[in-house]
Amino acid sequence: MSSLILAAPFDGWLSPLDDVPDPVFAQRLLGDGLAIDPLDGTLHAPADGTVVSVHAARHAITLRLAGGVEVLMHIGLETVRLNGEGFVAHVEAGDTVAAGDRLISVDLGTVAPRVKGMITPIVITETAGHAVIERAAPGRIARGAPLLVLGSAQAESAAPAAAFAATAQATLRLPLAHGLHARPAARLAELAKSYDADVRIVPAATPNATPCRLRSPSAVMALGLRHGDALTLLASGPAAAAVIEALADLIATGMGELRPLAQQAAPTSAPAHKPAESVDTSPIAPGERLMAVTAAAGYAIGQAAWLERPEPPRTAHASGDAGAEIAHFTQALAAFRAALEQRAQDQAGSEQAAILIAHRQLLDDEDILESVGDAMTRGDSASLAWQRTMQARAATLRAAPDPHIAQRADDFIDLEWQLQWHLAGQEPPAVSLPEAAIVIARDLVPSQVAALSPAQVAGLVTAQGGPTSHVAIIAASKGIPALVAAGPRVLSIAPGTPLLLDATGATLTVDPDAATWATAQAEAARRQARKAAAQAASGLEGRTSDGLRIEVCANLGKRSEAAPAVANGAEGCGLLRTEFLFLDRASAPDEDEQTADYTAIAQALDGRPLIIRLLDIGGDKPAPYLPMAAEENPALGVRGIRVGLAQREMLVPQLRAVLRAGAGAAAGAVKVMAPMIARVEELRAVRAALDAEAAKLGVAAVPLGVMVETPAAAVMADALAAECDFLSIGTNDLTQYALAMDRGNPAVAGSIDGLDPAVLRLIGLCCEGAQSHGKWVGVCGGLASDPLAVPILIGLGVTELSAAPAMVPEIKALVRALSAQDCRGLASAVLQASSAAQVRVLATQMIEGVAQ
Ligand code: PEP
Ligand code: MG
Repeated sequence: MSSLILAAPFDGWLSPLDDVPDPVFAQRLLGDGLAIDPLDGTLHAPADGTVVSVHAARHAITLRLAGGVEVLMHIGLETVRLNGEGFVAHVEAGDTVAAGDRLISVDLGTVAPRVKGMITPIVITETAGHAVIERAAPGRIARGAPLLVLGSAQAESAAPAAAFAATAQATLRLPLAHGLHARPAARLAELAKSYDADVRIVPAATPNATPCRLRSPSAVMALGLRHGDALTLLASGPAAAAVIEALADLIATGMGELRPLAQQAAPTSAPAHKPAESVDTSPIAPGERLMAVTAAAGYAIGQAAWLERPEPPRTAHASGDAGAEIAHFTQALAAFRAALEQRAQDQAGSEQAAILIAHRQLLDDEDILESVGDAMTRGDSASLAWQRTMQARAATLRAAPDPHIAQRADDFIDLEWQLQWHLAGQEPPAVSLPEAAIVIARDLVPSQVAALSPAQVAGLVTAQGGPTSHVAIIAASKGIPALVAAGPRVLSIAPGTPLLLDATGATLTVDPDAATWATAQAEAARRQARKAAAQAASGLEGRTSDGLRIEVCANLGKRSEAAPAVANGAEGCGLLRTEFLFLDRASAPDEDEQTADYTAIAQALDGRPLIIRLLDIGGDKPAPYLPMAAEENPALGVRGIRVGLAQREMLVPQLRAVLRAGAGAAAGAVKVMAPMIARVEELRAVRAALDAEAAKLGVAAVPLGVMVETPAAAVMADALAAECDFLSIGTNDLTQYALAMDRGNPAVAGSIDGLDPAVLRLIGLCCEGAQSHGKWVGVCGGLASDPLAVPILIGLGVTELSAAPAMVPEIKALVRALSAQDCRGLASAVLQASSAAQVRVLATQMIEGVAQ
């Protein structure tokens, strides 16, 4: 596919879309492009094409250009309100136009004073597989001058079809539940590299498309092949037949995420997280509370700040010596690789190190390197070749229907940016932020967040992004409270605006009134003082002032968290989220590996209880390497224990690993619990599997608990308690299911409140049911970390609280300050409340009356 050049349709001032004071364009919600503030009143065709539509108000026109690319030109902002007054259309839908033809005339004298501005976004609304690979520099531009160059990422990265003569090939359907995403693509590349053959892949649906090289995981990923799609593998070279056979065998195994093709669910065209259908761009009123999605929990007060991302000095003009450009690129790339390796080593074992290693591997992508090399050979500077290649990759990924893949586009943008500094032989300038900065950004890239420290920044809020992006993971690992997907309205917050960020409650309060601000400041100061006192007393036992024993434990996700949690006063682990041991790896850990992990954690807990939750995937917890179907409504689909019961090959090794770890630990210390139980039969099935494996291993079965996360489990707690050893309430899921509000959906996530009386009544029922069989109840969901909830939970009958590790000292201190009798009084009062707000008032009154 050759490049497509769009010419400036007006004389005027050119600027990036970011400068358009309308988030719909600035956010590129309609697509990428540029904007021109016109100096003349006639819009011309930027290229040859056909008119798709002229808006009834004649202020906007869409053209279809060569290759199916569509471009929208929207003259001025809010011009639709003029209903055509001052506009004359020279063409209509269906007309064929040539570059430079007149399209629409506008009477600037009449229109400009009556609208928000005349800046005209020129947006590629349909890329048809193209990406912007070059754009004119901002400033004065003459009509007809080159504005944008579009090229095809695939065409750039793949070898010409004609040049590839396959000697072996196979066509097969993809049995991978999540399609050909990053890790399976990397495994295929790895396998292909071990054969003396050149292997290409092409979607069978487009047999004439240029096959892309299997050794380039990013290009393979960009094909967007999904479960059930047919693909053709082509190979040439001495080992062509052998490599095709090996690849076909590997694909047929499902690489850990096999979903049989015969059982394929009806394909869903909607991405898992559907974008909002209408974009709210209304201005933010002072005191307004915006809702978003929690990426890293926490609380912060501060001022809005924009994180400058200085542009590296890119060199568009080549030296004219391709050899010199290639040498320069090779040198910079080596330096960048070494820098990433060093940083990964410095942070070995951390989440950030894993991301740095993944970035380092992307720099070996043969297809990317070949594409850059080709561009330099054709005469591009090293800087321009790298920029074009990486931007094209990012654009292709961003268009992927799977949000987890789309969120990886930022990694390419980040690498592009970082290597440009190496090419320039400079360091990016140090970040400077005002005090108590709450950074607002459209989106951030991983290295930006990695460079921040909690001392520098109080919190982060991004308009876009997702909770599974690398940005979210890094923010959480640094303890910086962060919200993502806050929507385009946050971008209108001026720097310096006072903000209250409650990342735990997923809200951002903008410019609160003086009273709210003073309360928040006092609250922050109180939290600080309380935290210091609680930390000092964290070694004391969890027991109420009138003697009721309440175990205060920590929720853990991996080995390295166990010892620090104990040092922080955790009396055990009330929830080990084992799915973290299964994520971000090439294959699921086997029984031995799991045994080693659980044993190490039990040892770090030194005889304290360890409750191991069976794998909980599905819903909001994607597990790329585990066999799961894409579902229209995953929160109500095959998740939690339903996955384990359907796929015994995952459940059984885990049960055996838990039993083996239990046999090696203090008696009864290791326990297991099943997530998302909704029925007694499910508990029985888990019990049977546990007993069977214990018998095979010749060890005693460990205590088995039920996670109460469905309203069904809460109301059936008595029946469940008759057959299990303990219950632990997962209030995060229990709340989303009780209130029918998706915890990952920003439109409702801000209203989800675990203190809703509906949820509290379910917890009350659960405790009653458990008590009728003498079983204990814990809480391992978010409510256990919420000081307002603690007296209510104790009053309802909960005797174990498993909190976020950082909250353990504070929760323990609070428990020690409460009397169980007062808690019971509060519990019966809140059960009669009619709203979460009322519950909060009652709980606050009680907590404030308690001396801590
Ligand atoms: C819960 O749902 O409350 C819980 C603890 O499980 P998770 O948050 O891991 O779904
Ligand atoms: Mg849960």
